[in-house]
Amino acid sequence: MTPPTTSADSTPDPHSPLEEALARLAESRKQLEYVFAAIGEGIWDWDISTDQVSRNTRGCELLGLDHTFTGHTAAEFRELIAEEDRLGMADALQHCLSGHGPYHCEYRVRHPSGRLVWVRDRGNVVEYAADGRPLRMIGSLSDISLEREASANLRLTSSVFRHAHESIVITDTSANILDVNDAFCRITGYLRSEIIGRNTRFLRSGLQTSEFYTDMWQRLIRDGVWQGELWNRKKHGELFAQLGNISAVRNEAGQTTHYVGLFSDITEIKESQRHLEHLAYHDALTQLPNRSLLADRMQMALAQAERNATLAAVAYLDLDGFKPVNDSHGHDVGDLLLVEIARRLQASSRAGDTVARMGGDEFALIYNGLEHSEECEQVFARLLAGIAEPVTLRGRELQVSASIGITLFPLDGADPDTLLRHADQAMYMAKQAGGNCFHLFDPERDRSLRAHRAAVARVESALNDRELELHYQPKVDIRRNRIIGVEALLRWRHPQHGVILPGEFLPAVMDSDFEIELGNWILATAVDEIQAFADAGHPLPVSVNVSPNHLAHPDFIAHLQALLARYPRLPSGMLELEILESTSFSDIGAVSRIMEACQQLGVRFALDDFGTGYGSLTYLRRLPVQTIKIDQSFVRDMLEDNDDLAIVQGVIGLAAAFRREVIAEGVETAAHRQALLALGCHLIQGFGVARPMPPDQLLVWIREGEAGQ
Ligand code: C2E
Ligand code: CA
Ligand code: CA
Repeated sequence: MTPPTTSADSTPDPHSPLEEALARLAESRKQLEYVFAAIGEGIWDWDISTDQVSRNTRGCELLGLDHTFTGHTAAEFRELIAEEDRLGMADALQHCLSGHGPYHCEYRVRHPSGRLVWVRDRGNVVEYAADGRPLRMIGSLSDISLEREASANLRLTSSVFRHAHESIVITDTSANILDVNDAFCRITGYLRSEIIGRNTRFLRSGLQTSEFYTDMWQRLIRDGVWQGELWNRKKHGELFAQLGNISAVRNEAGQTTHYVGLFSDITEIKESQRHLEHLAYHDALTQLPNRSLLADRMQMALAQAERNATLAAVAYLDLDGFKPVNDSHGHDVGDLLLVEIARRLQASSRAGDTVARMGGDEFALIYNGLEHSEECEQVFARLLAGIAEPVTLRGRELQVSASIGITLFPLDGADPDTLLRHADQAMYMAKQAGGNCFHLFDPERDRSLRAHRAAVARVESALNDRELELHYQPKVDIRRNRIIGVEALLRWRHPQHGVILPGEFLPAVMDSDFEIELGNWILATAVDEIQAFADAGHPLPVSVNVSPNHLAHPDFIAHLQALLARYPRLPSGMLELEILESTSFSDIGAVSRIMEACQQLGVRFALDDFGTGYGSLTYLRRLPVQTIKIDQSFVRDMLEDNDDLAIVQGVIGLAAAFRREVIAEGVETAAHRQALLALGCHLIQGFGVARPMPPDQLLVWIREGEAGQ
């Protein structure tokens, strides 16, 4: 029997029990190795007496050691550990080696690539020497990088949650609160313990409608997120505004498991916004709405009036006698007075009405829901009385009143700006009527006024476009059969309507500023023509019709003088002015002084349409006229109507008595001509002689007449 050898050259007997045991051992080692590899654990085995550490494949991988690794010493291993962690690892190891229990440590190892990997290292002493010295340790190493990262994230998340400035609420899918952060508690005044488990509904302020919440839930369910502003109520009842979002948290199967709300408190922003808005829409002194807010309110009031078929009164109010108060008592007192008036205005208005300050001592009012204009008048009469009540300020009793202009929508169907302007216009009328009263704007009157202004404007542009011209109608002496002069008559050569007679457009111009401008143009054109006639070898007196306003205008004489001065060669006495006898001159003395001044300039005067007015005799006596013109209405009917014949006769007699020249106008037939001559009137003008015509035609007419003689 040869003893079993372990020499290298001997062939082991595969059937010996020892060999079998060794093979089983190797097999189970391999299995163990597989198990460790499968669970990802790296196994190490440290023979302390020889200071050799061996590792399985996974162990090598974890440390970044390649397949050439055959083992290392504990000191060599320490080199692989991140420097900062080495001490901790050594301590833990020492702890175990000195018999204080198993070894456990987490540290980082540095791979050859430089990457740091977190590992958890666990082990224990498995063999001791007889004297108790540890001889061998076995342990396992695992990669805990992911675990570490996850817990770092978790720490970060919970710190964000806790310390966030925004309030955070986490709820279950039915909005029952699971958790809130400190900011939430700080803002709402609730303790965490007071609200965990409650439904977020209890925070509601009541400011949002149920539709608002329905919409919020719909969005959350559909989109998984809701964003917006929310007014909620704090523990002590105070309201607060939040801006933020609510997100649905979904699990891997896509089902919502939680909701997370993240909100910032915007109460202060809202408040300052509101303050700013108030400033922007209110008057600082009286706190009344200003112009901008008035415009808004007006829009609403008009819509309401239309809807309810009621009247809305838009009124403009201006204080009477405010300036003297300001001047004599100082601006402080003036301000106090305005505040008091504002208070009274507001006190007399109803809910839904608007009282606004427009600036200075001007206010605008909108009264809603009036049934008829009498109701409006009662309201404003009361208002006036209220304003006129004395005010005691700083021991002084003051009193002001108001002028109010009112327009009623929709009787006045204008737009808001225009309504206000109409009220302002009406206020002006109230002022002119002496104040302490109101005036109702009259849309009808305004329409005709505007039509009138438009008519004036049309004539004005006709003048600018050179569509106006003067025609000239001859006046003749039938005894001598000679032309003695012409009357200038205005014509509008309209590009579409042809020649328009003055009766159609001149009345509109009367009493407008343009009347004077037009009169001056007529005068200048006529004087120009006088010069032209003279230059053409036919010096002719020209009479120009002058409107009473024009004649009475303060600049009339100066203007006429300047005009004539421009024509130094103009034959004197060639310009005659016809003034209407039918006008009632308010100051006959002033008119006659003007006429005398004109006569100093060599200008003659005729009284036009004589006999049609009431003051014929007075005028004849007091006004320095050279000529009277018998009105054409008498001339026309003198052959049939004895009264008219008597008047014509009378005028001719008067002219003789006052030693004035007399001319009959509107002479259309030879019969008239004969009759007038028989009565002693030999100067005539009329279609029977010639129609008014442009200057060039007039010259032709004159030359033909001369040739025919
Ligand atoms: P008037 O000053 O009485 O002028 C005479 C009017 O009688 C003119 O009408 C003339 O065309 C018309 N007429 C002349 N002869 C006859 C006739 O035989 N039969 C009839 N039926 N009518 C005759 P016209 O040009 O339409 O002017 C009307 C009025 O307009 C003038 O009445 C005058 O008051 C005013 N007017 C005309 N031109 C001017 C002007 O340049 N300035 C001013 N302020 N008024 C003017
Ligand atoms: Ca005339
Ligand atoms: Ca006339």
